[in-house]
Amino acid sequence: MEDKGRSETEIFDELHQFKTRDMTHRSGKILGSMCTCPHPIGLNAFKMFLESNLGDPGLFKGTQAMEDEVISSLGELLGERDVYGHIITGGTEANIMAMRAARNTFKHNYPDCEDVNIVVPKSAHFSFKKAADMLCLDLLEAELDENYRVDINSLDELINENTAAVVAIAGTTELGKIDPVEKISELCLKRGVYLHVDAAFGGYSIPFLNEMGYDLPNFDFSLPGVCSITIDPHKMGLAPIPTGGILFRKKTFLESISIETPYLTEDRQSTIVGTRTGASTAATWALMNYLGKEGYRKVSKECMEITELLHRGVVEAGFNPVTEPELNIVAFTSDEMTVDEIADGLERSGWAVSISSYPRAIRIIVMPHVKEEHVELLLDDLRELRSL
Ligand code: PLP
Repeated sequence: MEDKGRSETEIFDELHQFKTRDMTHRSGKILGSMCTCPHPIGLNAFKMFLESNLGDPGLFKGTQAMEDEVISSLGELLGERDVYGHIITGGTEANIMAMRAARNTFKHNYPDCEDVNIVVPKSAHFSFKKAADMLCLDLLEAELDENYRVDINSLDELINENTAAVVAIAGTTELGKIDPVEKISELCLKRGVYLHVDAAFGGYSIPFLNEMGYDLPNFDFSLPGVCSITIDPHKMGLAPIPTGGILFRKKTFLESISIETPYLTEDRQSTIVGTRTGASTAATWALMNYLGKEGYRKVSKECMEITELLHRGVVEAGFNPVTEPELNIVAFTSDEMTVDEIADGLERSGWAVSISSYPRAIRIIVMPHVKEEHVELLLDDLRELRSL
């Protein structure tokens, strides 16, 4: 920092320079991200509440009331209106909070247990590795079946008397697969283990797709074993970053991670961050009310239709899809080229794709900013790559 400040014009000229180096979702070139263009209504609501701090909710009673409404609406979408939770920074924070609640509840019941573990599918997001590291938990990884969903027998074998939580995923990060949560819920009830569902990606689309007859597996609070759910408005919910959601079935789970807050307007706080933006809550509230279920059904359906178009196109262009898409992710390999060669070729044409780790494949997430015209251009480039 210099001693003297610079002019506003100079600052914003330079900010524009920085911005020109960023990619935009609007370009349709970002194909490996679970974020998307924030909806303008959400952005306006976000800007309106930039000053609001939900870490000190007594000062921002309106925002607090909005958060309560948002949590109940998200709960209702996921099978149980009377849930407890918060709007936070994203899926990582939500998963860490859930693992902390599971561990604290477990330690309350079994104070002498030392080597506490959590059992997650091999397909789990890396946020569970962070959670395990921070919370001193052993991370046990269950195998996947031939469709890349968690193998229930492998889960069952890994659960033991030191298991604080089992995780199931509704929309895996790499392939968009939905674990058999109904069976996992039964298993967790039988074994007396906390079940967390990571629906960071699928939470905002599976319920809407099912309303339109898609017949995707159930994963929500209507299953009695489910104790908490992660759902991210900043993914398929079209909210600006950072907007995540964590929902708990019972108040005691949230209380198990609460800490006394001596000088604030609330007595106890359960979130990881202290100062917490109310802007994310406002954006989520505004979008739920503006788009309604009808709007979100349309968003999910369009993404699925473009996913099907891409999947068919990839097959016709001679690539090998690694699995049938269940949500809006297409992953594929080629007999003629390595995955890195495909990724490099696409990058040279300006596409930002990502590579899945298991199995290693090109992974394209058809988020709402990916339109039919982008998929047509991508398929042209893929065909050209194969013909070289
Ligand atoms: N859970 C799942 C299933 C995800 O796909 C992701 C991110 O892609 C996360 C959690 C982490 O979310 P965030 O990046 O918002 O922290």
